[in-house]
Amino acid sequence: MELKELFEKSIFPVGGENTAYAQYFDGTSYLNMLSLDQVGIGNVTFEPGCRNHWHIHHAENGGGQILLVTAGKGWYQEWGKEARALKAGDIVNIPANVKHWHGAAKDSAFQHLAIEVPAEGGSTEWCEAVDAEAYNRLG
Ligand code: MN
Repeated sequence: MELKELFEKSIFPVGGENTAYAQYFDGTSYLNMLSLDQVGIGNVTFEPGCRNHWHIHHAENGGGQILLVTAGKGWYQEWGKEARALKAGDIVNIPANVKHWHGAAKDSAFQHLAIEVPAEGGSTEWCEAVDAEAYNRLG
């Protein structure tokens, strides 16, 4: 799916370019926080080929992240495991304290809602970029 088509089909507003986290992404993404109360929920849109760096949602209790895939094609990978292909309707439960990345397929835009699971002692640690050769071998 092209980015333009995804923008047109998006149920929730796409928001502006995700400049706040751009340093932790390869490629251009868009972020619109749908909820800041009770549970944080962000609508994250990736241009084709865009993915975030390896990162860890740390927590002492609870925490982690849930991804609800709303459009396009993408990937989720945990450190030391095979990447999982994602399409609209897929759900990813990301445990706290697990190193991972998520993002678009190289030939498709991608969009997910990211739900921040409430945590005690929560913080996100950003690590290295996804290896470009490994990414390009996906799919
Ligand atoms: Mn994450």
